Amino acid sequence: MIAVLKRGTTKQQLDHLLSWLKNMSLDVHVSEGQEFTVLGLIGDTSRVDMELLGSLEIVESVKRVSEPFKQANRKFHPNDSIIDAGGVKIGSGYFAMIAGPCSVETEEQIIAVAQSVKESGAQILRGGAFKPRTSPYAFQGLKGEGIRLLLEAKKATGLPIITEIMNIRSLDLFEDVDIIQVGARNMQNFDLLQELGKTHKPILLKRGLANTLQELLMSAEYIMSEGNENIILCERGIRTYETYTRNTLDLSAVPVLHELTHLPVVVDPSHATGRASLVPSMAVAAAAAGADGIMVEVHNNPACALCDGAQSLNLEQFAQLQQAVERVREAIK
Ligand code: PEP
Ligand code: MN
Repeated sequence: MIAVLKRGTTKQQLDHLLSWLKNMSLDVHVSEGQEFTVLGLIGDTSRVDMELLGSLEIVESVKRVSEPFKQANRKFHPNDSIIDAGGVKIGSGYFAMIAGPCSVETEEQIIAVAQSVKESGAQILRGGAFKPRTSPYAFQGLKGEGIRLLLEAKKATGLPIITEIMNIRSLDLFEDVDIIQVGARNMQNFDLLQELGKTHKPILLKRGLANTLQELLMSAEYIMSEGNENIILCERGIRTYETYTRNTLDLSAVPVLHELTHLPVVVDPSHATGRASLVPSMAVAAAAAGADGIMVEVHNNPACALCDGAQSLNLEQFAQLQQAVERVREAIK
């Protein structure tokens, strides 16, 4: 349920209303916008007398929120959220280019990629240390050593870093990581989501291989319900009957999510297509669709990459993509 307050409501009136609502064992989420203050009521709202609440002098309107996601709902929080990741803002007009290899392989590799993508204009460095591979015989990532190397690259370039967590037991290793990624395969690992909800780290939550947008938002809700509101959503393609591309990029997810939620939306054209030749066109399309950022795989020698070389751009291709995305962003301003 949401209650929109009238302009000019004083702090004292607001506090009075909040304590009345909290006495009914409700959690109240306050969103102060430029025009209105919106109260989002979470819990058993069947006990709230909507007519009584609506009749209060300071209340403009009261509505039930029919969607099962509440804190992620734009109705609860009409303004776009802005997530600060190590000093880089994402959302509400702040656009971030996230680039780097699928996996961290060596110090030379990650430093070379970090320096180059930074020079080309990327704001955040990606690199997998814990890799969720389909085959147990495939390269599983350098794990703790991979995070150490990412931190070296962060020190060398100043770029904030993002890397994927697979198991909450490794959370201590992520202390200096700026954004924790929850990969597509873990989107509905609810225990993991709840534990990440107890941290204040920005979380990039990828859409599952076969999950609806509502399921993605319910997963975000799992994190938010534990107190962490720093979430970035990521569309990375879904399974369809098409096999030419690795997945099918559901670009309509961008405007749909912008309608449904205040959380920023990033697009990953690399895992969506699985082919480097398709990445630039999907990246500019994502920018044109209003994405708040793009996450793209870049390798200094894609042919020798230990993971996802076929979809990785080389350093020069990334530099060109960055310029194309900037031109599109300029054009849609
Ligand atoms: C990744 O970003 O490295 C990754 C494994 O992506 P996804 O979870 O989308 O497959
Ligand atoms: Mn990958």
